[in-house]
Amino acid sequence: MNILEIRNLNLGFSTNNGFYQALFDVSFSLEKGHTLAIVGESGCGKSVTAMSILNLLPKNAKIISGDILYSGESVRELSEQDYREIRGKKIALIPQDPMTSLNPLFTIGDQLLEVIKIHQKLDGKDAERRAIEALDAVQIPSAKERFKSYPHEFSGGMKQRAIIAMALACNAEILIADEPTTALDVTIQAQIMELINNIKRERDMSVILITHDLALVRENSDKICVMYCGHIVEEGDTKEFFEGPLHPYSKALLKSLPTVRGISLETIKGQPPSITQIIQGCKFHPRCKDCTDTCTHEVPELKIISDSRLCACHLC
Ligand code: SF4
Repeated sequence: MNILEIRNLNLGFSTNNGFYQALFDVSFSLEKGHTLAIVGESGCGKSVTAMSILNLLPKNAKIISGDILYSGESVRELSEQDYREIRGKKIALIPQDPMTSLNPLFTIGDQLLEVIKIHQKLDGKDAERRAIEALDAVQIPSAKERFKSYPHEFSGGMKQRAIIAMALACNAEILIADEPTTALDVTIQAQIMELINNIKRERDMSVILITHDLALVRENSDKICVMYCGHIVEEGDTKEFFEGPLHPYSKALLKSLPTVRGISLETIKGQPPSITQIIQGCKFHPRCKDCTDTCTHEVPELKIISDSRLCACHLC
């Protein structure tokens, strides 16, 4: 069953120099209890896609067309007040930098209580008990004492755990994890991903994992969407993807993964273009080793390759 569906989402930004499109017909679905990874280099549109789902787009962004369905119902036309019922309560965000979600002036406990009061309508001792249970569930040691700590008294990993505790406290059904471990060292990274995976299994939660880190995706997702310049260029089952990526960009991303010794085998030449740059044909063509004449003027469609694979390349 799909808990979330994005259908043909087109979105752009108004700038001093005009309106520029940043997402092009982005479509994907998220099954209940599954993890979908959205990968790509910075600026490819993965975080904007996530912010659209949460209705947290900057003021200069505009959805041109498309739809976002949560549990089969469109949420695009909801008022901000109705959206608040979904954001946090049904769909929670784990950001790259937890300090963007934690207020340094309030204790972790106060911030958890706030969430619980709003979303669970609990008060007093009941709310406090629920908050401490949530801190316990994310393995914060001495949860009762730590409840009174301020964010600056927590390490990076503990702050991320506190954010996850907030998502748990409001029984979110979908976790959107936007580069959740980038700022953390490798050991803590693994612990946070293990925590997210355990919670997902125990609560049958669904996760959207947004990352540029393919190594993280291999171990922690069921399905993968590769984005380039606002387009989904490949989508498919994670295991099949790693056994044989289809799109030249996916192949290049995999080849640029660090080896066991931490050395990348290859780098992808050039940089992704900015949204203000107009590129005819396939947007990857200036960087693509397999580029043909057709690629320079015809945009490849996202085609069905098999039951579980899609690819947007003239050679697929
Ligand atoms: Fe490369 Fe052409 Fe495929 Fe684009 S369509 S990825 S340029 S081969």
